[in-house]
Amino acid sequence: MAARLLSGTATAGAIEDELKEDIARLAARGTRPGLGVLLVGDDPASTVYVRSKTRACERLGIHHETRRLPAEASTADALAVVEEYNRRPDVHGVLVQLPLPRQVDAARVLDLVDPGKDVDGFHPENVGRLVQKRPRFVPCTPAGIMELLARSGVEVAGRRAVVLGRSDIVGKPMALLLLHADATVTVCHSRTRDLPSVTREADLLVAAVGRAGLVGAGHVKPGAVVVDVGMNRVEDPALARRLVPAERWPEVEKKGYALVGDVDAPAVAPVASALTPVPGGVGPLTIALLMRNTVRAAAGG
Ligand code: NAP
Repeated sequence: MAARLLSGTATAGAIEDELKEDIARLAARGTRPGLGVLLVGDDPASTVYVRSKTRACERLGIHHETRRLPAEASTADALAVVEEYNRRPDVHGVLVQLPLPRQVDAARVLDLVDPGKDVDGFHPENVGRLVQKRPRFVPCTPAGIMELLARSGVEVAGRRAVVLGRSDIVGKPMALLLLHADATVTVCHSRTRDLPSVTREADLLVAAVGRAGLVGAGHVKPGAVVVDVGMNRVEDPALARRLVPAERWPEVEKKGYALVGDVDAPAVAPVASALTPVPGGVGPLTIALLMRNTVRAAAGG
C-alpha cells in the first residue's frame, strides 16, 4: 500500500491565508511587518532560499529588504548590518542567511540579533526559552513540521519518535518540540550504531541528515509516518533516476541535477503510512513559518 502524501505546499498555503488576516489587522493599526535579510557571498543555494523567502513576503505584503555583502566580507561588516536592522523600527524580523563564509564568526553575528527580532529562533535566549517550554520564536523548519503533523491528524503524544540528525537548526529543536508534544524521542546522528534498528522503532521518523536517499525501506517500521527534511542536489544520473519518479526524469535531464530528500521515497512509500514529498514537503512549510514569525514579531512577539 502506498503511503499517504503529506503536502507541505497545501499546509503552507493555509498558514499564509491565516496570516493575511493578521497582516490586515496590523495594517489597521498602521503597522506593516518588515523582514531584514543579510546575505553574504554568492552561494547559489542561499540565493535561491532568500529569493523564495522574499517572494513569500511579496505574496503577503510584508516589507522586505536584503543587504548583500561580498564573499570576502568580515565579521565586523556583518555585525554592522545586524546592528542597523536591530535599530530600525520598520524591521521587525532579522534573518541571517546561513551558511556564512568561513572567515565570518557566525555565532557572534547570530548572538547580536535582537532576540525580539530573531525570527529564525537561533539566538541563545530563544533556544533557552524553547528548552524550557516557554517558546517565543521557534526555528521555522521544525515548527513547520509540527504544524503539518497537527493539521494532518498525525498523533504525536505517546508515540515513539526518532529524529535523524542533531543540528541546531533542525534536529535538536525538532526533538524538543516532539518531546514537548509528549512523544518518546530518540535522536540519532553519524555515530549512532546500527541505525536501521533504532529508526525501525519509530512510529514517527524525521530525517534531517543531508544524505540523498539514506533512509531506505529497512529503516522504516511498517505503518510509520516519515517526514523528509533533506534537500540534496544529486548530479549522478543513475542515483537521480532511482530516487525520483519517472515523470520528473525529463526535468532532471534538462537541469542536469535532481533535488531529492534524505528518504528513498520509492522504497519507503510502500512501507510507510504517510510521507512528505521532496519538493513540496518541508520546504514551503519552513517559509510559511518564517512569515508567521515575522508577523508575530511585528505584533510585538
Ligand atoms: P547538518 O547540520 O549537516 O546536520 C546533519 C546531521 O545528520 C548531523 O547531526 C549528522 O551527524 C547527521 N548525519 C550525517 N550523516 C549521517 C549518517 N550517515 N547517519 C546518521 N546521521 C548522519 O544538516 P541540517 O542543517 O540539519 O540539514 C539536514 C538536511 O535538511 C539537509 O539536506 C538540508 O539541506 C535540509 N534542510 C532543509 C530545510 C527545508 O526547509 N526543507 C531546512 C533546513 C535543512 P553528526 O552530528 O554526528 O555530524
